[in-house]
Amino acid sequence: SEAMELEGKEVLARLGEAGYEAYFVGGCVRDKLLGRPLKDIDIATSALPEQVMRLFARTAPTGLQHGTVTVIMERYTFEVTTFRKESEYELFRKPKSVEFISDLNEDLRRRDFTINAMAIAADGSCIDPFGGQADLAAKLVRAVGDPMERFHEDALRMLRGIRFACEYGFELEPDTWSALLAHAALLSHVAMERVSAELDKMISGHAPDRAAELLYRSRLPRHFKQPIDWPLANGEAGTEPAWPAVLGLIEGSELRWTALFVQLGMDAEAAKEAMKRLKFAGKKSDAVVKLLKADAWMKERATDVIRASDTAENAKAGYGLVALVCVEFGKPLVREWLRLAAWREEALGERGWLVFAKRAEEWVELVAADKVTDLAIGGSEVAALLDKRPGPWLGLLLQELLAEVALGTIPNERTSLLEIAKIRVKRDNA
Ligand code: ATP
Ligand code: MG
Repeated sequence: SEAMELEGKEVLARLGEAGYEAYFVGGCVRDKLLGRPLKDIDIATSALPEQVMRLFARTAPTGLQHGTVTVIMERYTFEVTTFRKESEYELFRKPKSVEFISDLNEDLRRRDFTINAMAIAADGSCIDPFGGQADLAAKLVRAVGDPMERFHEDALRMLRGIRFACEYGFELEPDTWSALLAHAALLSHVAMERVSAELDKMISGHAPDRAAELLYRSRLPRHFKQPIDWPLANGEAGTEPAWPAVLGLIEGSELRWTALFVQLGMDAEAAKEAMKRLKFAGKKSDAVVKLLKADAWMKERATDVIRASDTAENAKAGYGLVALVCVEFGKPLVREWLRLAAWREEALGERGWLVFAKRAEEWVELVAADKVTDLAIGGSEVAALLDKRPGPWLGLLLQELLAEVALGTIPNERTSLLEIAKIRVKRDNA
């Protein structure tokens, strides 16, 4: 981070020497003043994109129409954007056109919140025309200028405001909050992808429970372009949420979303539908759906085992379930799910899951095989030995052997597996 800052300063210096103004702006200024690690450094400059490209050996034209050039330095890259004004907002969405300008203050004015509308010059001085430092000290998220106007221009800012409040433990400044409540319906104009990116950051971030609460109190979700009919959307303005704060007790974005759906009482199907409306990436949605399916699978079968006392008999039943869930969903997913299992007790107070999860962690590692390719024999080998043509019978047979190897009732060993395969096929033919 320090090295990144040094390189960023080199970029400022190079632009300065060429006679242009240049500053660190936006999120990195906010994070630096808060003493947080910087994720990336955005630079604003009076230089036009082609002038920036001429000054640096390696650049990429990332967003020329918005005035953004990526400058590639030795270790880091920097987004360098020409001072600009966003004219003519189109129906509460992104601006239709941008206009390059020469004044930093005008550039800062178009930014959403005072804490995001500061700049740092090459000499380290802070340019703060809207009182961002005072708001950082007072822990307030306050719109730059008239909040009503700003939410009209771009309704996504309402979600961003809630996200920043959650991330930093800030309050929304009262006028900004009232404007947000008054303009909630404008969110219906915002593309679902942008909405969902914000929700994902909130749920994955520092204060997912507060995010859920603020979403509930603001009633923003009921105005999404694709309405989502989960309890999160049913808040009455000014009321408290109906569920306890529990999402913060589990780490990881996919597990948090899974936990949220569990908490809301939504099964894999309902969650899949909700994530589709939220335009989740397929990969993430698939992972959450699998976790929910594994959770339902285990909850259906394991509840008695978990409630029962800690006997040897019970351990055998527990191991059996773990072996089978590994065959069904694969070990990596089961390892993830075990964290959700522990969460069930910590967050929802369902007794027995913590002890179970702890023991199951060891059991997972004892399972000898969780997929057909782990078996010490291959399908074609079995077909050849039995002099049978491969077909559905083969898949079923291997699956059967896999389950037994996982359970530990037969060894994962070539000769004995071939022997057992022979017997099973004879049995099935009889
Ligand atoms: P983070 O990257 O930590 O989420 P950030 O403040 O860097 O926070 P970005 O989305 O990366 O947020 O945007 C960079 C800067 O651009 C912001 O700090 C803000 O000044 C400005 N900005 C971004 N989105 C908007 C918007 N919708 N309206 C006005 N200004 C915006
Ligand atoms: Mg950023």
